[in-house]
Amino acid sequence: MLRPLDGRTALVTGSTSGIGLGLARRLAEAGAHVMLNGFGDRAEIEAERRRIETEYGVRALYSDADMRDREAIAHMVAGAEEAFGSVDILVNNAGIQHVAPVEDFPPDKWDAIVAINLSSSFYTTRAALPGMRRRGWGRIVNIASAHGLVASPFKAAYVAAKHGLVGLTKTVGLETAEDANITCNAICPGYVRTPLVDGQIRDQARAHGLSEEDVIRDVILAAQPNKRFVTIEELGALLLFLCSDNALSFNGAALPIDGGWTAR
Ligand code: NAD
Repeated sequence: MLRPLDGRTALVTGSTSGIGLGLARRLAEAGAHVMLNGFGDRAEIEAERRRIETEYGVRALYSDADMRDREAIAHMVAGAEEAFGSVDILVNNAGIQHVAPVEDFPPDKWDAIVAINLSSSFYTTRAALPGMRRRGWGRIVNIASAHGLVASPFKAAYVAAKHGLVGLTKTVGLETAEDANITCNAICPGYVRTPLVDGQIRDQARAHGLSEEDVIRDVILAAQPNKRFVTIEELGALLLFLCSDNALSFNGAALPIDGGWTAR
């Protein structure tokens, strides 16, 4: 049976865990060969890579490129192009978080968040776009956040980087607007239950002396009117739509998928 992304290739940054891994699996299920990237236990990553290949009958590769290292990023994109012949779908997903008042925000954390959550997308895009233009087909999907559209206190670096990523998305969308089959969009999720959010739940529970259930209801989901986490399945469905021909008029858009958070 023909799948929607048969013959396509995808690179998903930060795909050894959470949203990135879920999106890479969804792309593979739809037929795309995928390159995984991110940190973690090497044996677990290798097992996941093989599972993707056997479950979905595609090729899966892995790059350990650090998204703070622009040369490693260029090397990763070149490696994917060499192995697959192309990078058709680029999903910029790698991200980290740190929560602190702005005057106490550790400068090293600021630098790392801006590098991983924002600058890495500039470096992957500039490396992958020429090939997309040559082949006349490409999708760049940046995983921003509701925090790319609105702010919360104590997340200065994350909010600044995600707003920056939305700005990069708009600019690349405009620069590719006349390339008939290339688009660049941002997905802006509300809270998704992943290891990144589990860490915040634990930290907040400790800091405020609350139970994890109370933190989820009163702190984490306080801004999310529907009071439920966004699911990785919902994000995967949106990503697949953005990769389809029906989405060609979406370009430079920042798409909230946040249970109404940014409707306020
Ligand atoms: P996660 O911690 O589960 O996964 C992050 C991934 O990024 C991992 O694969 C990790 O190895 C990788 N990574 C971290 N630093 C890296 C580096 N220097 N180089 C390469 N890879 C690196 O987090 P997640 O919740 O799945 O988040 C994924 C993305 O989605 C992030 O950009 C995050 O900001 C965004 N997001 C998450 C939520 C949420 O509620 N979880 C909401 C909105 C947006």
